Amino acid sequence: MKRRRFLSHAIRAASGAVCSQLLPSGLRAFQGTQGVVPKTSADTSARPQLALTLDDPTLSLGSVIRWPEANSRILKAISDKNVRAALFVCGMRVDETDGAKLLSGWDQAGHLICNHSYSHKFYGEQTSYADFAVDFLKNEKVIAPYHNRTALFRYPFLKEGDTADKRDRFRALLKERGYRVGHVTIDASDWYVSQRYLDQFSKKPKTPVAPYRDYLIAHLLDRAAFYRQLALDVLGRDIRHTLLMHFNPLNAFVLPEVLSAFETAGWQWIDASLAFEDPVFRSQPMTLPAGESLVWALAKETGRFEGRLRYPGEDEVYEKSKLDALAL
Ligand SMILES: [Zn+2]
Repeated sequence: MKRRRFLSHAIRAASGAVCSQLLPSGLRAFQGTQGVVPKTSADTSARPQLALTLDDPTLSLGSVIRWPEANSRILKAISDKNVRAALFVCGMRVDETDGAKLLSGWDQAGHLICNHSYSHKFYGEQTSYADFAVDFLKNEKVIAPYHNRTALFRYPFLKEGDTADKRDRFRALLKERGYRVGHVTIDASDWYVSQRYLDQFSKKPKTPVAPYRDYLIAHLLDRAAFYRQLALDVLGRDIRHTLLMHFNPLNAFVLPEVLSAFETAGWQWIDASLAFEDPVFRSQPMTLPAGESLVWALAKETGRFEGRLRYPGEDEVYEKSKLDALAL
């Protein structure tokens, strides 16, 4: 009921049309032109929205958990929130029979299967355009069999090229292949917190997961608040956000609590396909070195936020001393 009132109010407010027959096809038309009415909005338009994007599914997670269990735990945590995520696949981690099983689970659950290159090269000084392009194209074969294969590319380490020539040539290749960039807006170092948990677990197999979960949740919420505010200051509006997380053991254990913590903090989970419809994802910041969170790069491009931007945007160096201090 509330939803219907909100929606019809939104249409009236925008177009002056007061006609219940407008719903739902009229609503869709309205969204098409305005692009600001959230399709999954329940009873408020004020909640910031984000989608889960998960990188680097892998068959090798170490001794703490095997991939089938990690996979089913992560998939269940996402489906319990009734949303679809985007999975960014790096071919070398899944290029065998079991890898196809892993990816099929995501495909069948309706998640987007996206390209994260084959070998996870750092597109800086050490990688030429030609090598990076070949590696990207090689990965197309890995994700080709899946129904939900989506032409979104995520740069490994979010590094988009160290020179204007390399940056622009690869962007042109993406365009030629029909791709868009699967940008991250909320960058974070979840991978490092999981690595610290695994390091400790290898020394003490009874290491409790709870302190790592609590650190991870606080870290992610802190980064989300930072990038949300930065986006508001740079763009003057709330954008639909994409949160970067990884397919790793810690996330396999605590993803349900992570997802719920965002809701408690006021965020609303939405489908990744909806998030990527936000026009912000079509922007192409002309920064060098290119990359980082899209919000970071847009802020950098203005030259007005230097005091708030560190480089890289996120990294283990920012978390290490805090984890050390907690003996984690
Ligand atoms: Zn990656």
